[in-house]
Amino acid sequence: MPSFHAEDEHLMAYAAGSLAEPIALLVATHLALCPSCRARVGSFEAVGGALLETLDTVTTDRSLRDAVLARLDETDAEPAPAPRPAKAGPVDLRVPEPLRGYLGSRLDDLAWKPRGPVDEVRILPDHAGITSRLFRIKAGTAMPRHTHEGSELTLVLSGGFTDRGDHFLRGDVAAADSGVDHCPLADTDEDCYCFAVNDAPLRLTGRLGRLLNPFIRI
Ligand SMILES: [Zn+2]
Repeated sequence: MPSFHAEDEHLMAYAAGSLAEPIALLVATHLALCPSCRARVGSFEAVGGALLETLDTVTTDRSLRDAVLARLDETDAEPAPAPRPAKAGPVDLRVPEPLRGYLGSRLDDLAWKPRGPVDEVRILPDHAGITSRLFRIKAGTAMPRHTHEGSELTLVLSGGFTDRGDHFLRGDVAAADSGVDHCPLADTDEDCYCFAVNDAPLRLTGRLGRLLNPFIRI
């Protein structure tokens, strides 16, 4: 059972089907590993359904009901990702669905690209300014110190890392926003694989990082 969870804001938006695909994919993959967040999504869905029923039966003001339904139609434009048919190739049981269906090979066999001390592979094309990547942080290695212009959500798939005093393991979600300047450190016993979604570019802030910023986009 994970110790660090998706925020209610994301779980509610997930229940409403209003999250952009990369974030919905991260939340759905966390849900596959987290019974307590699945239960919360279930209760949000129940509240949403009850609200609609109430509007149906109680309100005499059709315009209110129509306005709510119109809003729901707007947010329906971003459905939660269904599991994709698995691409041909061996599956990696460390990666839960629905993320597994996006990979098409074992984690180790993906087309990793070195980015400083970590390797990365892009999962989805950038989506409305949201970047989604898998990271492989070598055992005992720190990511370069960086901050964010936007927010970053990281789901641990295998191994673990420590960030600002918290220890994140498989299934945990680490959230960092623009106020956070950090350098997550992978556990020493195995490489850490995680899935990260950013809604703005990272900015390196360490001494070396500042020199590298113009050249590396991690
Ligand atoms: Zn959870």
